[in-house]
Amino acid sequence: MTYHHPRTLAEALDLLGAGPLRVLAGGTDLVASAGTPALGGDILDLTGLKALRGISETDTGWRIGAMVTWAEIAQAALPPAFDGLRAAARQVGAVQIQNRATIGGNLCNASPAADGVPPLLTLEAEVELTSCNGSRRMPVGEFLKGVRKTALQPGEILVAVHVPKAATQGRAGFAKLGARKYLVISIAMVAMRLEISDGIIRRAAVAVGACSPVAQRLRGFEQALEGARADDSDRWQPALADDISRRLSPIDDIRADAAYRRKAVQTLVSRLLQEVAR
Ligand SMILES: Cc1cc2nc3c(=O)[nH]c(=O)nc-3n(C[C@H](O)[C@H](O)[C@H](O)COP(=O)(O)OP(=O)(O)OC[C@H]3O[C@@H](n4cnc5c(N)ncnc54)[C@H](O)[C@@H]3O)c2cc1C
Repeated sequence: MTYHHPRTLAEALDLLGAGPLRVLAGGTDLVASAGTPALGGDILDLTGLKALRGISETDTGWRIGAMVTWAEIAQAALPPAFDGLRAAARQVGAVQIQNRATIGGNLCNASPAADGVPPLLTLEAEVELTSCNGSRRMPVGEFLKGVRKTALQPGEILVAVHVPKAATQGRAGFAKLGARKYLVISIAMVAMRLEISDGIIRRAAVAVGACSPVAQRLRGFEQALEGARADDSDRWQPALADDISRRLSPIDDIRADAAYRRKAVQTLVSRLLQEVAR
């Protein structure tokens, strides 16, 4: 086993370009999935890379480095549109996990129950992927291809997540249902971002996780919300029911069955709407 701990992104990309390595960020998914206390194989540890750290405002929006931890996101001074992401950060495992686990690892692990994904979808976030051959960007919804599948190519590292300025408007929230209140994998979770003026919802972004291989935006419901008031349920309930039945594909598993998950989403969305619109 060889353990690489590069200090620059260029060094890391050269190492990864030379042959396959297991990329290690916080290790909270990687080590758990190894099934043994020791990780096998050749490791590329990203913890020495300053280029993957930090949260900053840019000319075009916000940049969150891939190695930013959930604890850092929870404590960051970000606009209210990020409140859903910050709330999700506070619910990823317990504090010990939040201090190690990164936003990049949550995305690259591509679990359907990854709590970071729905808020990032409502923020129209893009990922920045870099290899020896250059960089590319794509929306989070395209990056995630299925259960544990991403668009990451051999030799690529996820460097940062970018949120465009247009999506940093409004207020936001996050609701997660598990078998208990904390330290739990989601049965279902919902993220919502609303732009409201004079009590009317002008723009809405709503995403649901743990109810399909990749978290989904509820586009029909979003459209029904636009121009409505949050309490005008006659206007948006049919679209919500339709999206839940057509866009989601929950599974039966040890945590909940599919029918329960659909009902849970209905309740979570309705409650979160009242909370964010308040
Ligand atoms: C006890 C416990 C509780 C948990 N609770 C939750 C929870 O409530 N909600 C939740 O969503 N998750 C939870 N998790 C899962 C995990 O903590 C998160 O998914 C976390 O964000 C993963 O980040 P990491 O830095 O530890 O990733 P790692 O384990 O280091 O990496 C995960 C995967 O991503 C790849 N990778 C990581 N970073 C990069 C990068 N920059 N470029 C390319 N590939 C990369 C790795 O090679 C690996 O395949 C929990 C885990 C544990 C152990």
